[in-house]
Amino acid sequence: MPLLLIIVAAVFFVTAWIWYRSNTLTPNCTWREDRRRAGPDEAFFHCLVCGAEERLPKGKQPRHCRRQQ
Ligand SMILES: [Zn+2]
Repeated sequence: MPLLLIIVAAVFFVTAWIWYRSNTLTPNCTWREDRRRAGPDEAFFHCLVCGAEERLPKGKQPRHCRRQQ
């Protein structure tokens, strides 16, 4: 039943997308990594939309817009 599998996969992705959107405070927040401003064991990100800045441990990425919190 390939059709059933496709339907199940579609429902799963739509649900995941809605869940992701509801957990993201500002969908328009766009984070960019700035390696020049990062320390040896951290990652530095700044938001192109609101100008927020965030330092995180290496390998992590910010998900929320800080200005909206
Ligand atoms: Zn932002």
